Amino acid sequence: MNDEPIAGDDESLLQFVYQFPVAVMRMSGAGVIDLMNPRAVSLLVGLGLPFEADQGWGILEGLDPTVCDLVRGHLLEPGPVAEQRPIERRDPQGRLHHLALTAIIVNPDSCMVAIEDVTKRVVQERQLARERQSLAVVLEALQGYFVLMLDLDLCITQPNRSIERLLGHGATVVGCACIGLLRADSSEPVDLAAKAEQAVRQGWVTFEAEYRCADGGTIWGDTVLTTIVDEAGVLSAFVIVARDVSERRRREAALIDEALTDPLTGLLNRRGLAARVAPWLDHARAGKALTISALALDIDFFKRVNDRYGHDGGDTVLRHLGQLLMQQFRRGDIVARLGGEEFVVLLRDVPDAIALASAERMRQLLEQSPLTWKDQAIAVTTSIGVASAAGLTEVERLLHDADLALYRAKAEGRNRVVCR
Ligand code: GH3
Ligand code: MG
Ligand code: MG
Repeated sequence: MNDEPIAGDDESLLQFVYQFPVAVMRMSGAGVIDLMNPRAVSLLVGLGLPFEADQGWGILEGLDPTVCDLVRGHLLEPGPVAEQRPIERRDPQGRLHHLALTAIIVNPDSCMVAIEDVTKRVVQERQLARERQSLAVVLEALQGYFVLMLDLDLCITQPNRSIERLLGHGATVVGCACIGLLRADSSEPVDLAAKAEQAVRQGWVTFEAEYRCADGGTIWGDTVLTTIVDEAGVLSAFVIVARDVSERRRREAALIDEALTDPLTGLLNRRGLAARVAPWLDHARAGKALTISALALDIDFFKRVNDRYGHDGGDTVLRHLGQLLMQQFRRGDIVARLGGEEFVVLLRDVPDAIALASAERMRQLLEQSPLTWKDQAIAVTTSIGVASAAGLTEVERLLHDADLALYRAKAEGRNRVVCR
């Protein structure tokens, strides 16, 4: 150690260096250590390096030969020689240590060396980098998924690259409100703010949502909205992870369509009629005004058609009537084939006179639209019973009334419309 007396401020500086949690050494131009704090001793011992005062160059050489050469060569020029220079060194047990070495020439005869053991930090940083990398790889590899980081206002802060693949949007979505990605007029609209509140209460929430693509189309996403809380437990962000389930939704919709459709005519079947009329009945159940008119149609002497032209000829007539019905009635009307050659049309909120007139127009249209099948003209007529009722909560009674009117039309000579 330095022989010169140390007084006043120098004394407190020395105390500071002694207790400093970083290894600190001071060495002379001859490579003799004249100051070394306890942390430096334990570090050098731990690394299996010499720590005797006259071993300055040996220590520095053992740590980093380049820095040692620089210090030896530059001792006349004050200034930093190395700043936080990373060094890897194994201890006698074979454990790898990461050190950060700083060497500063203070004056021509004195060099300060600080060595920090940063193993823990380096290991943590490397682990973090590895985790980030593998997370990025996983996120990119999940072909059918996209991920959106959202801030507390549910604006997008970071999308993963799949958003481009699945929705066609690029980084332009950053800063946009996430709700803007959802289709506003979806058959299943999502209240994102309400979902976020739910996620805050229970940590996460799942739902299916229809997302808008850049090309104007949409995809269905099976979505998990999760909260992210910081170490203090305070909500800091939201994450959306969504899986493309459009194909499944398409298959389900096709299955439902199939279950509700009459395969011969493409009209609704009995189940389809029930499904389509359900919202009307809900409306009435909610106490709102609703009138439904029912037209029950049955082809006259249809058995004769089958007898004369065969079952295939009969089927063609059924399809023909189905097409005329679809032409005649609006999209909002319900047109169904209930079985055999019996058809029903339900109209919503039309005056009785209009319902009757549309039945009469339909009767005439069929009468005047003979169909050509295998070079033969097949002419058929239909009888139609019409009934209407207000404030219905079930439709069976109305269909029964229309049927009664239909029987009367048959009894009165067929090819006519009878109102109940
Ligand atoms: P009406 O004027 O009294 O209605 O006489 P109709 O001969 O039409 O008598 P009805 O309504 O009882 O006869 C229905 C016939 O429709 C009986 C059945 O063979 C035939 N039919 C039922 N379903 C089908 C079908 O899917 N295809 C064909 N081609 N015929 C069918
Ligand atoms: Mg018939
Ligand atoms: Mg019949």
